Amino acid sequence: MNIGVLALQGAVAEHIKSIELAGGKGVAVKTVEQLQEIDGLILPGGESTTIGKLMRKYGFIDAIREFARNGKPVFGTCAGLIVLAERLEGAEEPHLQLMNMTVARNAFGRQRESFETDLDVKGIDTPLRAVFIRAPLIKEVGDNVDVLSTYKDEIVTARQGNLLASSYHPELTDDYRLHEYFLNMAKEASANR
Ligand code: GLN
Repeated sequence: MNIGVLALQGAVAEHIKSIELAGGKGVAVKTVEQLQEIDGLILPGGESTTIGKLMRKYGFIDAIREFARNGKPVFGTCAGLIVLAERLEGAEEPHLQLMNMTVARNAFGRQRESFETDLDVKGIDTPLRAVFIRAPLIKEVGDNVDVLSTYKDEIVTARQGNLLASSYHPELTDDYRLHEYFLNMAKEASANR
């Protein structure tokens, strides 16, 4: 499976490493044409306003919407989760608007800007190591969204069919099981095509 990592800004190399540890091939995606060559796409962490602007500039908004509507999996981590959301809290303009959820940016406040924890995630048998950095939270999800994990009663991992989102950075630890989970989504999607 070829898994692309959108390489406009943010944590790209770390995702490629985790995908390769999980048994896939990681590809840095810099142009919309490269979407033809991949079986799944990761939207990395970084700064969502910057990523959103660059996505508009290089034609990625419509191209990724179409990629996802064709059933191919998309995984947003941290800023990538913000980019996937249909709704953002406050006056912020949403980006891809693919996932039926409302997201609050920088939701942990100044005291807890970054921290690590172990999370129970549905579909992964023992707790997953997760790194939160100025992380967003999922404040509300639609009926078609499955909540995969919470942290202190707040939603931090969710799935809607071929879309997966985490508030935290799964690529900054040696624990690559969420990448393995995503790789399995890509395998299932390609078997059904
Ligand atoms: N705070 C960033 C944003 O709002 C996301 C942080 C991250 O990706 N680590 O875009």
